[in-house]
Formats: sequence, structure tokens, C-alpha cells
Amino acid sequence: MKPDPAAVRAGAPLPPRSVIGILGSGQLGKMLAQAASRLGFVAHVYGDDWGPAFDVCAVHAIGRYTNLARLDEFARGVDVVTYEFENVPVEAAEHLTKQVPVRPGAQALAVAQDRIVEKEFISKLGVPVAPYLVLDGEARVADAVSGFAGWGKAGILKTARLGYDGKGQVPIAVGGDIAGAFESLKGVPCVLEQRVDFACEISVIAVRGLDGKLACYDCPRNEHGAGILRRSTVPSGVPASVEAEARKIAGRIADALDYVGVLGVELFYLGPGASVPLMVNEIAPRVHNSGHWTMDACAVDQFESHIRAIAGWPLGTTSRHSDAAMVNLIGHDVDRWKEIAAEPNACLHLYGKREARDGRKMGHVNHVAPRTGA
Ligand code: AMP
Repeated sequence: MKPDPAAVRAGAPLPPRSVIGILGSGQLGKMLAQAASRLGFVAHVYGDDWGPAFDVCAVHAIGRYTNLARLDEFARGVDVVTYEFENVPVEAAEHLTKQVPVRPGAQALAVAQDRIVEKEFISKLGVPVAPYLVLDGEARVADAVSGFAGWGKAGILKTARLGYDGKGQVPIAVGGDIAGAFESLKGVPCVLEQRVDFACEISVIAVRGLDGKLACYDCPRNEHGAGILRRSTVPSGVPASVEAEARKIAGRIADALDYVGVLGVELFYLGPGASVPLMVNEIAPRVHNSGHWTMDACAVDQFESHIRAIAGWPLGTTSRHSDAAMVNLIGHDVDRWKEIAAEPNACLHLYGKREARDGRKMGHVNHVAPRTGA
């Protein structure tokens, strides 16, 4: 029986066989669809191109995210809509919201899509971010040049929109040429961030239910190469008090967005002696790559947590039964699949993408061991 849309909007839990609509057909959509199916839901994936999620969903549709007629058709066939990437046009999410609950809501997309909006939003909550200057016009370039000179530190120029995995970023040395870098990014609105001399990077994988309850997984320590996440490790090795503060920060952001679902919050940890120990780098309004270890180290992983939250179900446990190191398989790393499959304690997840390209996430492997420590 189809759930009553008014009741769903009011927060009634979706019964099994309800249809979960997922915008985006990538690997995150695939793992969300698998989790949905395990709970007895039916996954309907909408993507603008063939993607790995199409291998595992019951229904799929191909259409542009700007094609309102196609989106209307999608909305008619689903009981709730969620998304697996943050660049879903806000207009698409707002359009769908008129017909079916969209969780997390369109505001989370609007904030996460634009670094300028995101930094302002987070700062207003009293949460530290790396010092930054906004470049969104010629006058602001002159201001940034003088502001940068005052820092006496290196920076990173980042496009405000559509940057991911280190794309749309230019490192700037102390005294470097900001105006030239701004031009190389075609003069689109940018933020110039101070390069943070962090001890390590961590993230919070938080999940917030329809009732506002928040739960968080243990924070992974994240290592990047060329702007792409390479490895996430739990336990992180950072002091428990720092992890607790990171979780509080994530809670503040999730509450301010009246968020429903899994939220990824990436942070810099500046070490025990720093006057400001934690700064938020960015937020991701979706399941997050640094949470993939939960698939093999927790009874309820981040994908199931997300589905439970958007379906109005009680959240599951976020506790961890194993230590884990998640390693991304990027580009031709995936050619080692046979070798990895033969390793003990290696849980291999391949996304089934047709072609291995440089920088493309092809899969990941979770190396697990019995939990150590408290
Ligand atoms: P982003 O796309 O902004 O998440 O950046 C990707 C990675 O680049 C981060 O995870 C960091 O490793 C590095 N990075 C980005 N911004 C900064 C910064 N302000 N200071 C130091 N490293 C940074």
C-alpha cells in the first residue's frame, strides 16, 4: 500500500516497500540503494547519465536535473527524495519539495554548494573556519591582494562553486600572484583561504533523525593526496575531547540546517597547543567517502543510517565493533582487485565503473581488525 503523503510529510515512518528516490547515479547512490533494499525499500534512482547505482536499483530514470517534466514523473513514483551529491540544482530540490518530502532539505544544498555561503553560515554559528577572503569582483581582488599581504602566509584560491576533490583550486605561495590565479580560474567568484598548518584532518559522520536526534560515528583521520581522499582510519588517534568537540560542531551545523540524514563535516585539527584546535574545512550534505569504513566496522553503516533518517525510522547504533582503515581505489589502483581479494581482513567494494581513469574513484577496501582501546 502506498504511504499517505500527508502523513509522511508530518513525519510518519515509511513502511517497507515504500519507494526511496535518489538523485544521482554514482557510487554513493549505489550504496544508498543497497542499504534501502536491505531494509525492504525500493530504490528509484534518477541520474543524468548511466552510473553504478543503476546496477542495483529497481527503477531508474535518465534525465537532466533541470528537466522539470522528468522530475515531476520521478516525484510521482517515489515517497521521499534524497540525493547523493551536493551539486543537485537547488531549484530542482525546491521543485520536488512541492510534491514529495526532500531530505535533507534544499537549504543544505544551497549552503554546501557555495563556499562563500558555507563559510558565512558556519562562522555565524560561532564555529571556526580557516581565515578567508572573498573574491567576487574586481574591487574584491584588490582587497584580497592587500589582505593576503597582511597574512604573511600561503593561501589556496578556491572557486566558490563546483569544486570537488581538489578541482578548481590554486595554491598561492607567500607573496604569490593572486590576481593571476583568479584570472586562471576565469574570474569566477572565489575564496582565498589561508593554508592551515594542521596536525591532521578528521571528519564527523553525523546522522540527524526526523525528530532532531543526532548520532555520530567515531571520527576518522583522513589523509589526502592531490586533493583526493586516500585513506580514512579509525580510531583517529586524536584526543577524545577533540572528537567530542568535533561532534558538537557537527551537531550545531545539523541543527541550524534542521537537517535530516547523514551529514559529513570535514575538519582540520591543529594540534594540542593551538589556540583554535579545530576548524571546519567544508560540509557535505550527504553520505561521505570518509564514512565508508562504517560498512565493515559498524552494525549499522552510514548508508543505512541515512536511509533510516530520511524514512523517519529510529536511528540505529553508530557504535563501532572493529578498527578500520579505508583505502580508496583510485584510477588503476583497482587493477589490483585480485590481489586485494586474497588478503585476509580486506573487505573489497568495487563500484563497477566501466573505465578506470586517473583520479576516478573505482572502489575502496576496508582493512578491519578487532577493536582496540576504549
Ligand atoms: P577541499 O576540496 O576544500 O576539501 O580540499 C581538499 C584537501 O585539500 C583538504 O582535505 C586538505 O587536505 C587540503 N586543503 C584544502 N584547504 C586547505 C587549507 N586551507 N589549508 C590546508 N590544506 C587545505
